[in-house]
Amino acid sequence: MRRVYMDANATTPLLPEVMEAMRPYWMEHFGNASSIHLHGQQARKAVDTARETMARFFNCHDAEVVFNSGGTEGDNTAIFGLLHPGDHFITTSIEHSAILEAAKRMARHGPKNGVETTFVAPTASGLIDPTDILRAIRPETRLISVMLANNETGVLQPVEEIGKIANETGIFFHIDAVQGAGKIEFDVRRFGCHLCSISAHKMHGPKGIGAMFVRRGTPIEPLLVGGSHERRQRAGTENVPGIVGLAKAAELAMHSLDDGTIYRLAQLRDRLEAGILELSGTGVNGVAADGKAVARAANTTNIWFDQLEGEALVIALDLKGVSVSGGSACHSGATEPSHVLMAMGLDKNRARASLRFSMLKTATEADVDYVLRVVPEAVEHLRALSPVAAGTLG
Ligand code: PLP
Repeated sequence: MRRVYMDANATTPLLPEVMEAMRPYWMEHFGNASSIHLHGQQARKAVDTARETMARFFNCHDAEVVFNSGGTEGDNTAIFGLLHPGDHFITTSIEHSAILEAAKRMARHGPKNGVETTFVAPTASGLIDPTDILRAIRPETRLISVMLANNETGVLQPVEEIGKIANETGIFFHIDAVQGAGKIEFDVRRFGCHLCSISAHKMHGPKGIGAMFVRRGTPIEPLLVGGSHERRQRAGTENVPGIVGLAKAAELAMHSLDDGTIYRLAQLRDRLEAGILELSGTGVNGVAADGKAVARAANTTNIWFDQLEGEALVIALDLKGVSVSGGSACHSGATEPSHVLMAMGLDKNRARASLRFSMLKTATEADVDYVLRVVPEAVEHLRALSPVAAGTLG
């Protein structure tokens, strides 16, 4: 049976070039980048070169790149590293749990000793309106955090406009760019942010490694203390193979933006989407009121299917060789409908009956053909059996 992976927003496989770049750093060049002997120097050189690549990726200075363990750490660092008791924090109700749970923890000590957070809701199309961010600002607001691309819908947020607001009002601005990195033109100066988190495994790099842009002069307290690694901003022996892999993935991602790969991916996604929408009782999550799609990451579509359970469709498609996700994979196991879709105003049944198709940049026409063959079969079969269809499920 053919296997088609359409869950790239959960994670991606290494590209062969990434594996090859990393390979020597596990065995031959295994040194600790802090050691002064040859082995250490080899590791240090690899980390320095990777930092230069990441500085090009972010469009920042080398000294503004901090390697860490990925998106969760970057998101947590922005919140725990910048906010103090009594501060006010603005984020959105469609962020990843790495932001939402960190905000919850900061609230713990009550209104005076904790950090109060305003969660700005999206429009029905999944977009955050910058004027809602502006309206939420108070004298004690210290940080705004908004994601670049939503992991469930792919909707791209107006970070440049929010960056302008943050800079004009003297508030720090963090972007969770985990799902946007490698998929759209990237430039932290244009975005106007002070902090920006990315993760290698969402862009064909290894898991457990990421980087954060920290604008010079941003007074961030490190999450981890110990050695003087990463200019005292993140203690811990550098994950040299991971750092090399992240930089290689970022380099390849920069090429993909230039060589038409991302454009081709958007066309494939549009064909997939149009094919699925031929089924009755379906629609896209992430369209404006006039029915037009809003700007989205090229690889993602999120589609609702009336009269069925999303989880059942995920399982049925898995049995037919297609890997997709209902809601965010980071919440897998949870039966609650997606907080993102609920925030966009979907009712519980429709949110539960939604699926995310997120394509790898190596996706092919044949992958789309296969998915377009098996999705209608699975949907028809489940609808024939469905208690939702029979009206027995509230
Ligand atoms: N932010 C977003 C938008 C994500 O989609 C994810 C992972 O799904 C994360 C943060 C967490 O990243 P990591 O898996 O590198 O910890």
